[in-house]
Amino acid sequence: MHEYGIAYDIVVTSRKAALDNNATEITHIYVDVGELSIINPDQVEFLFSAIVEGDPLFQNAKLTCTKVHPETRCSCGYAGDEIYVCPKCGQLPEIVRGKEVVVTRIEVEAD
Ligand SMILES: [Zn+2]
Repeated sequence: MHEYGIAYDIVVTSRKAALDNNATEITHIYVDVGELSIINPDQVEFLFSAIVEGDPLFQNAKLTCTKVHPETRCSCGYAGDEIYVCPKCGQLPEIVRGKEVVVTRIEVEAD
């Protein structure tokens, strides 16, 4: 299950960020989910809650996933969101954004 690996990575990344900042609690984690990543954000949120259950660092942690629209560009100069065929020259555009799942912000409480 791909979502499990994503949720697990989010937990590991957040825990490391919290410990690096001497945080006692993580309150909110923001994640960008690219529309091309074929990830179900609801599933990620569910698995995240299951993984952190009973962990005091995460007891009030909220996870917010934001869908990110794809961005592509082509060597001919085209930039937009066509992912299969460049509307200007017909080549395969390069995907700049929209495939990744990235933790963008972590809010923590520190003593
Ligand atoms: Zn093109």
